[in-house]
Amino acid sequence: MDAKCYQEVSTKNSVKTDNMAHMTEKEAYQAGLIDKPKTSKYMSKKAKCSDGEHLHDSGHEANVCSELKLQQRAGDFVRFRVQVPFEIHPPFVSFTGRKIREIKYIADFVIEHHNGIVEIADAKGKATELFKVKWKLLQYSLKDSRKCDYIFTLK
Ligand SMILES: [Zn+2]
Repeated sequence: MDAKCYQEVSTKNSVKTDNMAHMTEKEAYQAGLIDKPKTSKYMSKKAKCSDGEHLHDSGHEANVCSELKLQQRAGDFVRFRVQVPFEIHPPFVSFTGRKIREIKYIADFVIEHHNGIVEIADAKGKATELFKVKWKLLQYSLKDSRKCDYIFTLK
């Protein structure tokens, strides 16, 4: 299958996100990628997955990632990626002439299955109202895709 059949946002910010997935928050701060480290209260929620490869936003997300790594090694699917940005609404100029930035949804996991299906998975323990809106917009933005069959799951 075409590994690039889903639309990714290739902005400077998304590159930062990609790079940051492989470093700790402290390292990201030292590299000048983020403004300042989050509070210790927030930090305590973060957790590394197996091999310490990524620093995930929650222990649950890290557990899902570790499980996906095992499944990938077992050949259950082709591959998966973490923190994949999608543009769910393009940037535009408002009626007052103000430039409004695009709206992005960062998928926790994008899993490419052997049958060509692309699974977009979110590790939210509980779906917030904001998440529900973004999730709906994501499905809308992909509705005309002819290259991939998408499925959306909550892990
Ligand atoms: Zn991970």
